[in-house]
Amino acid sequence: MSTLKIKDLHVSIGEKEILKGINLTINTGEIHAIMGPNGNGKSTLLSVIMGHPKYTVTKGTIHIDDQNVLEMSVDERSKAGIFLGMQYPQEIPGVTTSDFLRAAVNAHQEKPVSLFKFVRNLEKNIADLKMDENLAHRYLNEGFSGGEKKRNEILQMKLLQPKFALLDEIDSGLDVDALKIVANAIGEMKSNDFACVMVSHYERLFELVPPSHVHVLVNGRIILSGGKEVVEKIDQEGYEWVKELGVEVL
Ligand code: ADP
Ligand code: MG
Ligand code: MG
Repeated sequence: MSTLKIKDLHVSIGEKEILKGINLTINTGEIHAIMGPNGNGKSTLLSVIMGHPKYTVTKGTIHIDDQNVLEMSVDERSKAGIFLGMQYPQEIPGVTTSDFLRAAVNAHQEKPVSLFKFVRNLEKNIADLKMDENLAHRYLNEGFSGGEKKRNEILQMKLLQPKFALLDEIDSGLDVDALKIVANAIGEMKSNDFACVMVSHYERLFELVPPSHVHVLVNGRIILSGGKEVVEKIDQEGYEWVKELGVEVL
């Protein structure tokens, strides 16, 4: 078992403090859901764990077991098993999806994987995700639909086999069928060696991939943690009740 442990994390962009003391412990084998109104720091939290340079950590720690994640480069974090499926995947003209994925896979290996093995694995996963096989030969995300970009993030996750997958609104832009396929792919990853943190606004994803832990992030803090009942409450009541707790929404 591995543990991703976040303690009293404070994060700023420029002068503005976005995260104001996040505490979160994620063990492999667990599935965590993070919900919360827009603009309250969910993407910031996932991006900081991955090491996005636009954010400054002003206080607090992130560890995987005894490894200090904040001292690692993005590359080292990826090798340590962290994966971020982005809310808005980048288009990279000039780099084919297949070349990008192969470079990413090889960066995790001592010896480069053989082209034959890589292609076989790629094709299997593309078929499982019911993606158009031509996407692999196109430039990364360029002209991909919203749903294709999201499936491409999941394809990358399947190839990299991370320990801690951070999935940021992976269900946005997916139609009902695509959502089932993606949920199924996440479900297949479930093991004692895998943890997932899913940010989403919608109950539907969490019905298909039931979380073991649910957190509500408001104004840079986790104001509530619980089980599936929290998802139902938000689905029925929105976030109005948050204000009654005296918490200021950003
Ligand atoms: P969420 O994912 O919960 O919708 P985000 O983490 O994306 O929220 O954003 C948190 C806050 O950070 C928002 O108020 C947003 O406006 C602010 N923010 C994001 N990027 C920047 C930036 N480059 N400069 C200043 N503020 C930013
Ligand atoms: Mg948002
Ligand atoms: Mg976001």
